[in-house]
Amino acid sequence: MSDINAQKNIKNPVLVDSHCHLDRLDLSPWQGRLDGALEGAEELGVGYFLCVSIDLEHYPNILEMAHNSNRISVSVGVHPNEKGGREPSVEELVALATDPSVVAIGETGLDYFRSQKDEDDDLEWQRERFRTHIRAAKKCNKPLIIHMREATEDTLQILAEEEADQVGGVMHCFVEDWETAQRAMALNFDISFSGIVTFNSAKTLKEVAEKMPVERMLVETDSPYLAPVPYRGKPNYPAYVRHVAECIADLRGMQWQELANITTKNFFRRFKVSRSLNIQ
Ligand SMILES: [Zn+2]
Ligand SMILES: [Zn+2]
Repeated sequence: MSDINAQKNIKNPVLVDSHCHLDRLDLSPWQGRLDGALEGAEELGVGYFLCVSIDLEHYPNILEMAHNSNRISVSVGVHPNEKGGREPSVEELVALATDPSVVAIGETGLDYFRSQKDEDDDLEWQRERFRTHIRAAKKCNKPLIIHMREATEDTLQILAEEEADQVGGVMHCFVEDWETAQRAMALNFDISFSGIVTFNSAKTLKEVAEKMPVERMLVETDSPYLAPVPYRGKPNYPAYVRHVAECIADLRGMQWQELANITTKNFFRRFKVSRSLNIQ
């Protein structure tokens, strides 16, 4: 049993959903109660949640969730696909990150998949916003949560130029190849796998999950998006991070409990979460 589990006073291993959007879950099965979804997660061994910020307008809502629960941490940042909301400055992000519930800056990064539809837009605003987040993270010494979609070279180049390795962080919902994973890890970024790794078509990604050092691995749902097999195409919930962990454990010939212990340790170390958790 790991130190973390001993500290939390629980018998079973605890998984962390290292990336979810709790304010966007479909809570209709629990009459709108977030507690219901989180209790369901706990039954599957999922005991801690990092709720990731997408924009500054909804940020107060997720911060309140963290204030009301000893199992939720949050990040602060504006997603690369968000348009029309308040643009963050370095100073504002640093100020918002002083709340003890905030353990990371993000999600930030580059997304050329969803944003490249408009040919008149060179997306310089996205790269500028990304640099702002990296500068804020360095100023407040917090890790970054990176969203990278069809923008590998620019993302890694900006991380290197801005010396993001000083704070490091996580490449969330990683979908790329082993070479890219190695380049990201060399920049002090851990690799986080979502439900995509459970898809039969995700051969290259399964290979990364199989061969990468498990000490650099995290698991997540990105719920309510990207439900894993066997829930593909349906609403996703933090509980389903258990399926992500089971899939990777299978690939590596490990017990899922062992993978849970290691990835949870990785999470607590990377995000310096030091709350005392009383989950029974
Ligand atoms: Zn993302
Ligand atoms: Zn996300």
